[in-house]
Amino acid sequence: MKLYNTLTKKVEDFVPNDGNKVGMYTCGPTVYHFAHIGNLRSYIMEDVLEKSLRYSGYDVKRVMNITDVGHLSSDADTGEDKMLKGAKREKKTVMEIAKFYTDAFFADCAKLNIKIPDVVEPATNCIAEFIKMIEGLLEKGYAYVAGDNVYFDTSKLESYYVLSSQNEEELMVGVRDDVDEDTNKRNKTDFVLWFTKSKFDNQELKWESPWGVGYPGWHIECSAISMKHLGEYMDIHCGGIDNIFPHHTNEIAQSEAYIGHKWCNYWFHVHHLNDKSGKMSKSKGEFLTLSLLESKGYNPLVYRMFCLQSHYRKPLEFSYEIMDNVAVAYNKLLKRVSELKDDGAVDENVFAKMKQKFLDAIGNDINTSMALTVIYDVFREETNDATKKALIASFDEVVSLNLLAGVVEEKTQIDSELEVYVLDMIEQRKEAKKNKDYAKADAIRNELLEKGIILEDTREGVKWKLA
Ligand code: AMP
Ligand code: ZN
Repeated sequence: MKLYNTLTKKVEDFVPNDGNKVGMYTCGPTVYHFAHIGNLRSYIMEDVLEKSLRYSGYDVKRVMNITDVGHLSSDADTGEDKMLKGAKREKKTVMEIAKFYTDAFFADCAKLNIKIPDVVEPATNCIAEFIKMIEGLLEKGYAYVAGDNVYFDTSKLESYYVLSSQNEEELMVGVRDDVDEDTNKRNKTDFVLWFTKSKFDNQELKWESPWGVGYPGWHIECSAISMKHLGEYMDIHCGGIDNIFPHHTNEIAQSEAYIGHKWCNYWFHVHHLNDKSGKMSKSKGEFLTLSLLESKGYNPLVYRMFCLQSHYRKPLEFSYEIMDNVAVAYNKLLKRVSELKDDGAVDENVFAKMKQKFLDAIGNDINTSMALTVIYDVFREETNDATKKALIASFDEVVSLNLLAGVVEEKTQIDSELEVYVLDMIEQRKEAKKNKDYAKADAIRNELLEKGIILEDTREGVKWKLA
């Protein structure tokens, strides 16, 4: 299997450290809001990577964190904790927000046929591991305490910018967005390992540590969580391209300083999904969710197919026109598969030949559009239907488009998680009004509004729409 490696900036043969065992790590979501379909593009393509490795015969163990603490508004450790921001927005506790959006994330994954990684670990489960690693970094002289925070000292490294070819100044501009410079840092690229002091001292979740009561930085969680479950050597680490700097750069810095040798050999980065106005981002507050696509009548798997039609290393622009075309193509494909008959034994020669073609496509740096073409090629093979059906069932282990599910009825009803949630809130608001608890009724309306859901009191009852 050949994969592009951000570390070497080359397409390389993928060779795991230990025979056919693969240790794979994915940076999980920051659960302060719904995942947008850009985030989901990354998770779909990482799911295809995992399934391609398994299909190619590797024994994969995949680990993912859930970021429920420490990811500040700017990736460069400044601003408010994103989780606290979410909690304030919705007048809930951080843990309530984390639970709600973690559940919403996995509900989206289920609809998109994204397999849940073998290990999913929330950052707040691993405080002891973070502290141990930070202590180790202090002992080895790679970290220092300043202004009551613990920082990683990037000047102690031979080279820091191992993942990016951009120059230093360009990268730092991206990081400095909303920044007030942190004057405790010895070097501008140093980053926080443990906070006890921040401008935002109302952090809800805090833990005892040798450096005082505080909370971990964002980057340390992925290093510590991956080592907890995959050990000191990892084969492949993935995320979206915005993670390359500073997040993955900092992960490499602290991990290799801590263990004293190379940590991860292959870095897989998915390029962004953009809309017409540019990169989709959760912090912009306005973004497309899977529930929104569903409310417009799209089957989530149409979005999966939309993603598979493009290479993961190219930016992808979202448009409803393309989604409509994909929806038509998807339904046609399901119909063609449903018409295949069970007409005898599978022709092993044709099966092996076509399987090899499919393996070549995914083995060519996860060329998913080529893999889809191989699926269409199956129909043109001179063989019986049973062989074609067996091939498509086999390829569906990777593309996961439910190709054998039969034609799906056009959606007429919205049955998304979102709708269930909104209808429940509307019911609670009705109840509050009945009890003349207008403050509660308003609070419910506002909570929905903060999630971009608008309620309208009409003569036919309460209606809702997305802002
Ligand atoms: P977050 O929840 O913000 O930590 O992001 C979750 C994942 O989505 C990370 O791997 C990001 O790199 C990735 N991501 C963020 N924005 C986009 C986008 N517009 N397109 C694709 N992936 C993205
Ligand atoms: Zn990470």
